[in-house]
Amino acid sequence: MELITILNRCHRFRGFVYEQARFSADKKSIEVAVRPRNGSAAVCSHCHLPAPGYDQLAERRFEFIPLWGFLVFLLYTMRRVDCRRCGVVAVEEVPWGDGKRTLTRAYMLFLARWARKLSWKETAEAFRTSWEKVFDAVEHIVTFGLEHRVLGQIDAIGVDEIQYAKGHKYLTLVYQIDLGVTRLLWVGRERTIESFQGFFTIIGDELASKIVFVCSDMWEPYLKVIREKCSEALHILDRFHIVANMNKALDEVRAGEARRIACEGGVPLLKKSRWLLLKREENLKTEQRFRLRDLLRCNLKTVRAYLLKEAFQQLWDYNSPAWAGKFLDDWCRQVMRSRIEPMKKIARSLRQHRELILNYFRAQKLLSSGVVEGLNNKAKVTMRKSYGFRTFRCLELALYHSLGKLPEPESTHDFF
Ligand SMILES: [Zn+2]
Repeated sequence: MELITILNRCHRFRGFVYEQARFSADKKSIEVAVRPRNGSAAVCSHCHLPAPGYDQLAERRFEFIPLWGFLVFLLYTMRRVDCRRCGVVAVEEVPWGDGKRTLTRAYMLFLARWARKLSWKETAEAFRTSWEKVFDAVEHIVTFGLEHRVLGQIDAIGVDEIQYAKGHKYLTLVYQIDLGVTRLLWVGRERTIESFQGFFTIIGDELASKIVFVCSDMWEPYLKVIREKCSEALHILDRFHIVANMNKALDEVRAGEARRIACEGGVPLLKKSRWLLLKREENLKTEQRFRLRDLLRCNLKTVRAYLLKEAFQQLWDYNSPAWAGKFLDDWCRQVMRSRIEPMKKIARSLRQHRELILNYFRAQKLLSSGVVEGLNNKAKVTMRKSYGFRTFRCLELALYHSLGKLPEPESTHDFF
């Protein structure tokens, strides 16, 4: 069987003919000559309609999917057309590639699909291509996806902030969290009012007004935008963000007390206790559980903060907003007497956002809880997998690519 036969089977285009396949001079790549079918007119790249020929350009090489360790190139001499409709001399449009890129569409889709499973660097290495070409491929596929995605009605959104560039910078991510449809809708720079407003500009007022639930953390700029743009929606403070803040406060107490003990030359009781205190008890190993039990016998501020945090977990077991509210008030009162400043700060902020927290119970049956947390974890994995992404653009593409559930361009064949 000849290579041309296979190509005609999986990558055939009307109006073009595969002429012959041969090795390059160094035998490292396979070159396949392509020519227009006799009598078929070139297509104008402006209006996408056939137009009379004008002249020919130099031969171009389009990179195709590698085969058995050989790079594969399609060689084609682009024609130019004299298009009367457009009133210009334009380069023709070819179905396997686009004007500026050297990769064929099939190869871009192939690389982009792998780049969802591997890091971009690994993808480049696996197919002996460059990181830049993988970037190009993902950019092409994501751009297509964003142009062709259907937003439809959005019932619930979650807004989330995420740190990058070693924690010095923030992104704002907006997810759709409808039952049945969870996907990343939008990535914005920073975590300002303007960045979140960018999302509402994209979806427009009509879609925004139909949103029923909004999940967020307590970040004031987000709260402000939600009040303005989704005044009709039930706004819920996300459980996951509250727990994360609580853990942060506990960690602050622990770090402060450990430092104080070290300064005073005391017994370093809190050494290596960080994860003992932050993990849920059921996730600890037996040996860690014993150490935690010993630690909890000590008379430490950290221990009191830990017990307060653990007691707080009970909140999520309530079904009724009224009982949850009563529990929340009691807990806050207890914390305010504790003289543990980071925890008091949490209690003050919980009191301030009491109604938004209780909305969690008002909406509980209708929103799949933990969905924002799941998406946040996936976003972090994407960022971790993508060492080498330093710019906002790279991260934005990688996040849309792995979490956006974007439509892909059609292909002549499933190469992967
Ligand atoms: Zn034209």
